[in-house]
Amino acid sequence: MSFNPIESLAKVRHEFGEHGGVNMSIEASTTFTVLNAATMPDIFQGLRGPEDQQKSAEGCYLYGRHFNPTVYVLGRYVAAIEGTEAAYCTASGMSAIAGAIMQHCGPGDHVVASDTIYGGTFALLKEFLPVKAGVATTFLNIADLDAVRRAITPRTKIVYCETLANPTMVVADLRELAKIAHAAGASLVVDNTFTPMMVSPCMLGADVVVHSMTKFMGGGSDIIAGAVCGTKAFVSSLMDTHTGALMLLGPTMDPRVAFELSLRLPHLPLRIKEHSRRAQFFAERLSERGVPVSYPGLPDHPQHKLLSSMLNEGFGYGGMLAIDVGTKERAFRLMEYLQNEQRFGFLAVSLGYFDTLMSCSASSTSSEMSDEDLRAAGIAPGLVRVSLGYTGTLEQRWAQFEAGLKHVGVLK
Ligand code: PLP
Repeated sequence: MSFNPIESLAKVRHEFGEHGGVNMSIEASTTFTVLNAATMPDIFQGLRGPEDQQKSAEGCYLYGRHFNPTVYVLGRYVAAIEGTEAAYCTASGMSAIAGAIMQHCGPGDHVVASDTIYGGTFALLKEFLPVKAGVATTFLNIADLDAVRRAITPRTKIVYCETLANPTMVVADLRELAKIAHAAGASLVVDNTFTPMMVSPCMLGADVVVHSMTKFMGGGSDIIAGAVCGTKAFVSSLMDTHTGALMLLGPTMDPRVAFELSLRLPHLPLRIKEHSRRAQFFAERLSERGVPVSYPGLPDHPQHKLLSSMLNEGFGYGGMLAIDVGTKERAFRLMEYLQNEQRFGFLAVSLGYFDTLMSCSASSTSSEMSDEDLRAAGIAPGLVRVSLGYTGTLEQRWAQFEAGLKHVGVLK
């Protein structure tokens, strides 16, 4: 029986506010009391925590950079969506990623990572962590499972990938990658930012899921936020007062932000379904007209079957697609024309917004990569990444997009 993230979230999201409100209350305090002074050392040592709240009236919270009740509840919602024991939310997707990686790795340790990942994560692994933490990364084509096996060393702590790679739409075989990682005693860490609700990596064997909640989960392009999901033990370790990456590096989510996000998750499934419906329509039209389009919902996508086998039912193939218009200049003209003349979407990075966002990946979100790295990852100079929104009618939006393609000569 497949996992149903909607049912899972509904079971958990039934909080009462302090005065009987239908939403949880915001706990904005940065510091928390205990009734007995002797309780405090227990909380510091991780012997008492948020899970103990129901057991007695005694305090279990410490300080706002440690667990906060509102952020903790949001973490439970995200964990429910991902089917993990626990999760905690952070100030950004990057801090969730950095925290998860640094919690696993120390000097001399090694990461095997997909060569097609968000540019910031790529820079973190390629440039920041080797210098600042002595953690080395081997980048490779994550679809080449033999290459993954070969790259693993006795010091490999993590296999890292995105469920659906940014921006090439390459699908990671999470079941097989989990087996390979586990055989080597390593963890599979997956960025599921492009595919919330659609895929639940930990249900397929992954150990840790990270999210940029800035994207589909937030849905309004107005909040920077992240999440780390995994076992209770792992999430607790992130908050350890001596060794926890979240506790000590301090990428704390503001409880007001957590509250705001808690109002968006109940309609995340509806939004994802509509993003998917529209992206599938666009991808089919583009493919019929002979425009090079990469979308995993198309039967000719190289990993269409693989993604189909990993999907939770009913959410489609997501709101992200990429088209190759040949050159950077043409990509720029297309995006400018669509935004400025057609009022179709925005020429902007990011994704998961209710309106369409378009960017030329090689010159923006993947510009941390060298020309050689871009070539290896298959990111063409004229690749336009489109996060398809759901404003306007589908027919209206397609007519605008088609006019743009005609304007730059991609379509006759
Ligand atoms: N992961 C993916 C796939 C992304 O696209 C991004 C940002 O674009 C991030 C992580 C980083 O997230 P944030 O900007 O919330 O730090």
